[in-house]
Amino acid sequence: MLLPPFEYYRPSNLEQALALLREMGDQAHPLAGGTDLLVNLKLKKLAPKALLDLGGLEELKGSRADGGQVSLGALNSASRLASGGPHVPRLLAMGAGALGSPQVRNRATLGGNLVTARPAADLCLPLLALGARAVLTGPQGSREVSLDGYFQGPGYTVKEPGEILTRVLLEAPKPGQGGGYQKLGLRQALEIALVNVAAHLELEPDGKTIAMARVALGAVAPVPMLAPSAAQVLQGAKADEKSFTAAAQAAAADAKPIDDHRGSAAYRRDMARTLTLRALRQALAQAQGGKEVGA
Ligand SMILES: Cc1cc2nc3c(=O)[nH]c(=O)nc-3n(C[C@H](O)[C@H](O)[C@H](O)COP(=O)(O)OP(=O)(O)OC[C@H]3O[C@@H](n4cnc5c(N)ncnc54)[C@H](O)[C@@H]3O)c2cc1C
Repeated sequence: MLLPPFEYYRPSNLEQALALLREMGDQAHPLAGGTDLLVNLKLKKLAPKALLDLGGLEELKGSRADGGQVSLGALNSASRLASGGPHVPRLLAMGAGALGSPQVRNRATLGGNLVTARPAADLCLPLLALGARAVLTGPQGSREVSLDGYFQGPGYTVKEPGEILTRVLLEAPKPGQGGGYQKLGLRQALEIALVNVAAHLELEPDGKTIAMARVALGAVAPVPMLAPSAAQVLQGAKADEKSFTAAAQAAAADAKPIDDHRGSAAYRRDMARTLTLRALRQALAQAQGGKEVGA
């Protein structure tokens, strides 16, 4: 399948990129790894007049930590995130390692995954559970948006057409924190999740009480979503099977799945419960510095 014709621009800095976007309006689409955009072009779902390659923008690259905050550039690839590194939380690395295949991971970017905003996106769930914020830069400057509120529907976010997602901000990882990621698909690889769950736990200094928890659920609503009832059950509770079982049930109740050709709503809800329990066990093992408990 051939790509339709388009004009190609490769701005060398953010200012130039924003000026081009302002000039061309919705006729120009930013291009990062191309794993979503080029497929949509080939399938003729989109026919933009121009593509704006973001690959030359230093402002969107690298990762750094400053004053207890980590800043990850939107152009970080899933491969780079999956291989970890000093500033990449392990939970995000787990999600990145579950995305697509090695070839797709080498091209797919953090920014592209957040802008595409699929309900089961493998980078979105860990970032939601970690309490991340997206930095959106447009003609009026930059604004920070919490991911809890960023997703509006499948493929829709609060990002305005003239804005570029430049970076993702996170609290720097601390001792006593741990994450768990579980993905269920119809196949083992190259699969968009049927249900996926990311859990983030922070323990009190006693190593047994939960100071804070977030559970994010995928493919059980039109957007990647947090499970507020699960977080409520866990906050201040003992980190044990009883609390995790109650939280998993609460997460399943928070889920809003619908029947579709890949699975029934009842099955997805049940899997949300099972995967939440497994993700919490994994997160606890990581938080306590022990061996991770698998399925
Ligand atoms: C075979 C295959 C398997 C896949 N498997 C998975 C999977 O298992 N899990 C999963 O989550 N996804 C999967 N995907 C989807 C895709 O790889 C991811 O969503 C990827 O993260 C998209 O990133 P990208 O850099 O390729 O985005 P692109 O395709 O370059 O862009 C996607 C969209 O985002 C916009 N955009 C990109 N970056 C920015 C930015 N910084 N600011 C503003 N707009 C921007 C583009 O204009 C476009 O609309 C798969 C795709 C393929 C082809």
